[in-house]
Amino acid sequence: MSADCLFCKIVAGEIPATVVHETEKTFAFRDIKPQAAKHVLVVPREHHEDAISLAAADPQLLADLTTAGAEVAKVEGIDESGYRLVFNIGEDSGRTVFHVHLHVLGGEQLGLFGR
Ligand code: 5GP
Ligand code: ZN
Repeated sequence: MSADCLFCKIVAGEIPATVVHETEKTFAFRDIKPQAAKHVLVVPREHHEDAISLAAADPQLLADLTTAGAEVAKVEGIDESGYRLVFNIGEDSGRTVFHVHLHVLGGEQLGLFGR
């Protein structure tokens, strides 16, 4: 656990969140400010800063996040209608939390990416 990391605190149960899915290595909860009808964040229990550093440090754990994202889509009932998986990297992405998280977005027709 990294001190003062919001998502480490959510994983530890120190800050409440609505849990959607859990495995030994991953933890998924609803985004507090949803950007789609369904918006869930999947994080590793272990602290890693972003998807790129995680890919270098533990590629299996990065794969586990995407597998958990697909399981979240099933739990949320959007696996057949389709969904979007997003990692934000760096400042221009508007990223705010520095514990890697996979956004699972769906439940409606999503708009195109852009500004
Ligand atoms: P980022 O922009 O860093 O990729 O995404 C961070 C996400 O975390 C945002 O979508 C934001 O709404 C969400 N978030 C920020 N604080 C909290 C919180 O305390 N609880 C939950 N469940 N989500 C949060
Ligand atoms: Zn953390």
